[in-house]
Amino acid sequence: MSESIAVRSVVLHRVRVPFVEPFRISNGVVAEKDAILIELATEEGIVGWGEASPMSGSFYSSATPDSSWTALSERLVPALLSAGQVNPATFFEVLREQSADQFAKAGLEGAVWDAYANTRRLPLGELLGIERRPVRSGVAIGIFETIDELIERVRRYISEGYQRVKIKIQPGWDVEPVTAVRAQFPQLPLMVDANAAYTINDLHIFRELDRFDLLMIEQPLAANASEEAGELQAHLTTPLCADESAESLTALDQLIKHRAARIINIKVQRVGGLNEALLMVEAACAAGLRCWVGTMPELGIASAQALHLAMHSAFSFPTDIEASSRWYVDDIVEPTITIDRSGFIQVPDGAGTGFKVARAKVEGYTTAVERFRL
Ligand code: MG
Repeated sequence: MSESIAVRSVVLHRVRVPFVEPFRISNGVVAEKDAILIELATEEGIVGWGEASPMSGSFYSSATPDSSWTALSERLVPALLSAGQVNPATFFEVLREQSADQFAKAGLEGAVWDAYANTRRLPLGELLGIERRPVRSGVAIGIFETIDELIERVRRYISEGYQRVKIKIQPGWDVEPVTAVRAQFPQLPLMVDANAAYTINDLHIFRELDRFDLLMIEQPLAANASEEAGELQAHLTTPLCADESAESLTALDQLIKHRAARIINIKVQRVGGLNEALLMVEAACAAGLRCWVGTMPELGIASAQALHLAMHSAFSFPTDIEASSRWYVDDIVEPTITIDRSGFIQVPDGAGTGFKVARAKVEGYTTAVERFRL
């Protein structure tokens, strides 16, 4: 069986899918998922789907749906079409040579992997060398106007089965909400995520948060403040987790050098695809760090691919991948992603991700289309 595919055509679909409710973090608020779906067809007519899913504005990183669209349209898709035979396991080396954001690269590589898995009629995880297991799911909860609203959401998500709760914090919304949640839920596996909203001068706040038996404190400082994060970690018992600062293998080296985190949040989108993610997991584990799989969040296509990665035995905390219904009235995959009452996501068996893209739904949410042929 060939280890590569020949790509005949690519279609980019820009979609906007509304959230169930707006999501607020320290950088801003979003109310819909603005994403690029990448539909690829091989010479044999096999289809693969990928998703490039940066947040709008500078919500999480400098990449945006517009910048990813431009990178895909002008550089990445032409590079793919001119590559001839494409091997999904080595395509990341082609992508590394291209100037484009990681989200665009992750989306295109995801489409290549999906088409390859569908060609081989094998599950994506199996092709990545990952053994099937149920995936533990945790929920990420945004910033609210009142503590009461936050407590209500925590209670609701725990009742749905989520195995751990992450609450977003920012200056002015940190010790007080954590104190309240801990008082209500003393045994709850709980963590916080600051999305880079603090500086080393806020050490006193983290010393207070250190008292709450948190699983981890995610991205307390700026993405490029690895040295300061090492200093902060040295003052705390709670492990720090790197998210925005773990954008590449080079960045991971810096984190390791400065002992800036004990845990790494691996996001397929942020690091530029499944292969890069696997290389980072390997490097992190070799350095004695623990890992888990985060999300932006994404729509069902990227979430389903990340779920296959999340089955990897190296991940020792619940993933941020949640049920489709936590974010969307209507996701674009069938079945939608669900969690069971014990907080596990069962990845469907079958070729590719095991989820199917609902084309009618994609068309219903589409705002722009661009087609490319060899
Ligand atoms: Mg985060």
